[in-house]
Amino acid sequence: MREIGLRVHPPAEKCDDPNCPWHGHLKIHGRYFEGIVVSDKGKKTVVVERQYYHYLKKYERYELRRSKVHAHNPECIDAKVGDRVLIAETRPISKTESWVVVAITKRAGER
Ligand SMILES: [Zn+2]
Repeated sequence: MREIGLRVHPPAEKCDDPNCPWHGHLKIHGRYFEGIVVSDKGKKTVVVERQYYHYLKKYERYELRRSKVHAHNPECIDAKVGDRVLIAETRPISKTESWVVVAITKRAGER
């Protein structure tokens, strides 16, 4: 298993996905964030939504914003809708994917 440079628990499963940050050759770099999986319909792809607060100077208050990104979902992680995941930026894996799920921080339904 590789060291990926983030303080997260490695997945319990093993996989032979070359685009897996733990078991393949994928290198992560740059930004990372936590978000919620809103779609797992794609093959080894999930849509992750992030919520963040954007400060509006004019009104002196924060506004809740959302952004969605497509992320590669390695077999050993296999994130599902509702899971809270940590995703990291990587090289483009496909046209729409340049993020990869590195860990599930909270399973759907878990308290
Ligand atoms: Zn893997």
